[in-house]
Amino acid sequence: MTLYLKYRPQRVSDLDLPEVKEALAKYLTAKSLPHAWLFTGPRGTGKTSSARILAKSVNCTGHKAKEAGNFEPCNECGMCEEITAGTAIDVVEIDAASNRGIDEIRELKERINLAPMKAKSKVYIIDEVHMLTTEAANALLKTLEEPPANTYFVLCTTEADKLLETVVSRCTRVNFRKPKVEETVSSLKRVVEGEKGKATAAGLEMVAKAARGSFRDATKILEQVILSHKEVTEEAVREAVAMSVGADPVKLLEFVETGETKKALELVTELDVKGVNLRRFVEALVEQLRERLLEMKEDKGTILKLIFGLDKAYEQMKSAVVAQLPLEIWVIENSNQKPTTASVKQATNANLPTANKTEAPPAPAAKVEKEEVKPVNDNPSGKGMYALSDLEVKWGDIMKLVRPKNHSVEALLRSTRPIEFDGERLILEVFYKFHKDKLETDKCRQIVEMAVAEAFSVDTIKLNLKLGQGQKKGKEEVTAANVGDDIVKAAEAIFGVGVV
Ligand SMILES: [Zn+2]
Repeated sequence: MTLYLKYRPQRVSDLDLPEVKEALAKYLTAKSLPHAWLFTGPRGTGKTSSARILAKSVNCTGHKAKEAGNFEPCNECGMCEEITAGTAIDVVEIDAASNRGIDEIRELKERINLAPMKAKSKVYIIDEVHMLTTEAANALLKTLEEPPANTYFVLCTTEADKLLETVVSRCTRVNFRKPKVEETVSSLKRVVEGEKGKATAAGLEMVAKAARGSFRDATKILEQVILSHKEVTEEAVREAVAMSVGADPVKLLEFVETGETKKALELVTELDVKGVNLRRFVEALVEQLRERLLEMKEDKGTILKLIFGLDKAYEQMKSAVVAQLPLEIWVIENSNQKPTTASVKQATNANLPTANKTEAPPAPAAKVEKEEVKPVNDNPSGKGMYALSDLEVKWGDIMKLVRPKNHSVEALLRSTRPIEFDGERLILEVFYKFHKDKLETDKCRQIVEMAVAEAFSVDTIKLNLKLGQGQKKGKEEVTAANVGDDIVKAAEAIFGVGVV
């Protein structure tokens, strides 16, 4: 049994959220108990646990059950035990998310007027009730309008605003919310004590923060540490969190902030190889940075820049041709490397938040070309009419033409370097084989070729790609500054020896 199930609250007083505890106690001691309940709030905050406690409270046959003012289930009688085990025939749990509840609601309608088989009252717990089909929701509404005696409904949902207003208005609503860190910590303490484990206060706090307001997730993280027979310390929790997201986000941040770009990129590649959910990993990275931001001990400009960059990468990942590319670009853009002449020049002009460390300014933002895209001439074939230097001038415009068509192609282009151009044939150097493979697909190639053709008002452009050999650039070649981005330079610095 998982620790979450083992330590699931079994009575009202076990519940973690004080206002939920109070609300249930108030209604359970009132003269008449509402027949329809609506439990709303984020996942993992105790809605289903509370629904089961309610079911036990109305059905408990323990000796204290009849005492005035007592509403807690005894958790010892047959009824309580069956409900805890999920085998009570009169307590029906329906997961509306699994098949949108069609069969279950039909069955519910057929059997609703039958008396309970064994228990005093029938209790229907409907999870994710917003997922019901319209037909099922309407059937449910009919039932809620005239609930039979001895029948209770507990509707649970994470998205109350998706429910029919008529359903909501029939229910007594209890709002669940994400617990505060100290509330999660106190529920974790119960688990640690029960398991006779050891924990430091800082370790438990770290678990609570990593779980981001879900008791369930917090218990899962704790379980990983406890099962490996370790004391719950910050170090052990960090390892457990790293395992759950596939790698250690703190490590990647360290590599980026100390300028170990190559190691950082290797870690990203490793994530991809391991099949880690990259968006989930980025969420963990942002969470780390958010923690540091709220501590207000460091320069906030630097942290904000990292967060905004990740935010952008997170969005781009949704449609990226190469899933890890946005994260790689973030690494390259934010690695604190030794400044190049070009980037220093740009950094002094740019009003970017900079780190206090003078030897390591953040990469400057891309220079935006202000020049409008205008046809240069009417010649349909541009062969021999242009040179590489013309392309450099237009490179920013080309990016602007590509961006609305597909921003991951733009991102790919940013990690290339134009090395030859004659008005008809364009050769780009790429630094990764899989970037080359991607750009060579018909879809990507067409986008690039059409953008370049449009920028020069010519009929066709033929794109060729060359895998980078990492040769040093001469002064006459494309420089970071006039390409409008220093990523090329950064990439060259990192992959100086050539990457296959
Ligand atoms: Zn009982």
